Amino acid sequence: MKVPFVDLVSQYEEIKDEVHPALEKVMASAGFVLGAAVTSFEKNFAEYCESPHCVGVASGADALLLALKALHIGPGDEVITAANTFVATVNAIALAGATPVLVDVREEDYNLDPAHLANALTDKTRAIIPVHLYGQVADMDPILEFARAHGLHVVEDAAQAHGATYKGKKAGSMGDVGCFSFYPGKNLGSYGEGGAIVTPHADVAEQVRMYRNCGQSEKYVHPVIGYNSRLQSMQAAVLDVKLRHLEDWNTRRREVAALYTELLADTTLQLPATNPGNSHVWHLYVVQHSNRDALMDALKAEEVFCGIHYPIPIHAQEAYQGVRTIPNELPVTTRTAPRIVSLPIHPNLSDEQVRFVADAIHRFEASH
Ligand SMILES: *Cc1c(COP(=O)(O)O)cnc(C)c1O
Repeated sequence: MKVPFVDLVSQYEEIKDEVHPALEKVMASAGFVLGAAVTSFEKNFAEYCESPHCVGVASGADALLLALKALHIGPGDEVITAANTFVATVNAIALAGATPVLVDVREEDYNLDPAHLANALTDKTRAIIPVHLYGQVADMDPILEFARAHGLHVVEDAAQAHGATYKGKKAGSMGDVGCFSFYPGKNLGSYGEGGAIVTPHADVAEQVRMYRNCGQSEKYVHPVIGYNSRLQSMQAAVLDVKLRHLEDWNTRRREVAALYTELLADTTLQLPATNPGNSHVWHLYVVQHSNRDALMDALKAEEVFCGIHYPIPIHAQEAYQGVRTIPNELPVTTRTAPRIVSLPIHPNLSDEQVRFVADAIHRFEASH
């Protein structure tokens, strides 16, 4: 039995009868950039996220960058984010011209540890970017409270958390801006690149609309220096179809995660947990093992394909030499990086495949 890490081919087979007419409609209208399909998706995604405004952009990386630009964050400003994240989060801060400050994560959820915020704060701090890593929302109440007390913006990196909730509130809807990626492998993925921001602030939405479209407020009028970061209509059409399936797909991810947790309870693996009050959408099912690389090799030999998110932390990357880290050694990020492994999880995984993965892990443990 083969267990792929993601299976977008099976997903395509499941929805192609809905996707093809949606794409044909865009092609027949020849409205390839922005236009009706994008407006429709923006309306539906704002509604889904329970946030007043949505603006589609070219990628999740751009969603983060344009959010910071819209909040007027740039040179001389510091932005705090989680040390354990995909590099795009930190790149956005640096590309906006601001200075990233990396805060360690909590081992129970791998998300930004609010206890370190006070030590990360300086008179230059302007914003915090909590990352809802692996599909679980960070502990937002203390983060929002700290931000309010110190006049900071909060930009949520919800690229891995479409539909996740925290105390009943949707990922992306709690801060000043929520940023999403529609990279194909994400819980909601396009057929190429895509991203979006959601925000409660009409003026921030307006700024992002300008920044995504060459800094244009109306045709050939340019108040700011902007980017070409428009969401393509073909992607929006696919996303509108897939959005209708997202709740079902997230439900199936929860079932897969629950089955892993049940079947792996008697192993030496450290299993992931869901914080009380959270609804997890399981973008990734990340476990820890003391002999991670050997485990991955053994699984690969049985055609079970895993990932590591992320093998080299940001502060150890050449691009980020000298970045400020709180606390200095980032103990949790550093200790867990060589131990974490992401097991296959996606909505098209069968119970049989999950059982096969669990059996393969049991076989590995019995022989080591
Ligand atoms: C995927 C991802 C991004 C970047 O999104 P792209 O669409 O690939 O640019 C940013 N942050 C996190 C946490 C991600 O997982």
